[in-house]
Amino acid sequence: MAYLQLRGIEKFFGEHHAIKGIDLSIAQGEFIVFVGPSGCGKSTLLRLIAGLERVDGGTLLLDGSDITDRPSSRRDLAMVFQSYALYPHMSVYQNMSFALQLAKADPAIIRTKVERAAAILNLGSYLQRRPRELSGGQRQRVAIGRAIVRAPKVFLFDEPLSNLDAALRGQTRVEIAKLHRDLGATTIYVTHDQVEAMTLADRVVVLRDGQIEQVGTPLTLYDQPANRFVAQFIGTPQMNMLPYEQLPPVMQQQCPAAAVGGAVGLRPECLAVHPAGHPGGAFGQGAAALGGQVELIEALGAETLIYLRTAQGAQVVARQSERTALQPGHPVALDIAIGQAHWFDSTGRVVPA
Ligand code: ATP
Repeated sequence: MAYLQLRGIEKFFGEHHAIKGIDLSIAQGEFIVFVGPSGCGKSTLLRLIAGLERVDGGTLLLDGSDITDRPSSRRDLAMVFQSYALYPHMSVYQNMSFALQLAKADPAIIRTKVERAAAILNLGSYLQRRPRELSGGQRQRVAIGRAIVRAPKVFLFDEPLSNLDAALRGQTRVEIAKLHRDLGATTIYVTHDQVEAMTLADRVVVLRDGQIEQVGTPLTLYDQPANRFVAQFIGTPQMNMLPYEQLPPVMQQQCPAAAVGGAVGLRPECLAVHPAGHPGGAFGQGAAALGGQVELIEALGAETLIYLRTAQGAQVVARQSERTALQPGHPVALDIAIGQAHWFDSTGRVVPA
């Protein structure tokens, strides 16, 4: 049963058609992440749901009610922004309690709710401080706390962690995941960050140019991308894409008829690199092999990325958990787990193997 439903949602900015007929059903308690390249409409879609932008076509339903034309303040949604948007002259306690004060809630109830949210977010000892006396991560937790205190029907997050440094981002991400586990609140979250999308989402919505390319669990998108765009958008490093023309004859023979003239996509972990002349066989039967030359090595500690150019001229990257003695310029042989290849036709649509 859909809790929040988007039906044929449209948005124009002047001539620019920013959101093109989006249909999406979100269940109660789901954590939905919007991803897509810059300008694809992620923030706009979130703002339309929040009521911060007017919908030009379509219908928004929340918990059985049509909220399409309802003002933002009456939608019972709470939004957390990248910029925190805290009141600088108010204490943490006042910031968190503000919405309840406005609603003239009972002071004892306000205190209980703020203290409970502060405890969940580890803010208990900061309640009397002003925002400027807090770190970026603490400020973002106050912004989240302010949303929790309101107990809205849906939490909306617009890139909430993008102003934090890498370590704090990681910590706060884990806190948001725990929060969702504990509160089970319906959440929509916009991010550029692959790790946030993959770790937080129940389902990821991949947007491109105002339209949905694919909706699915993080691993469905990783393992079964519907098209080339999703295949290369999800996963870091990007999925390798070898045009049909650059495949060696043995792989061209395995190409499904509909993908002739298209391309084959291979995740970096589906390639194994050996020094030229050494036996490969990493993926057993059904593997294919290519010759090539190392261009660059990235030793990341837990894994090694080997960038190379195949004899046919394609640039690819292989990921392995072992370290390597290979150096740029070394000739190599590449084993390919051809059984895990993704085939695409010339329009970019996936073709079953
Ligand atoms: P980013 O990842 O860069 O934040 P986004 O996917 O969130 O991008 P939006 O901010 O939703 O993208 O913008 C979608 C498109 O609509 C863009 O082309 C943008 O320039 C345009 N747009 C957004 N807001 C407005 C506005 N108020 N007036 C005119 N055009 C706008």
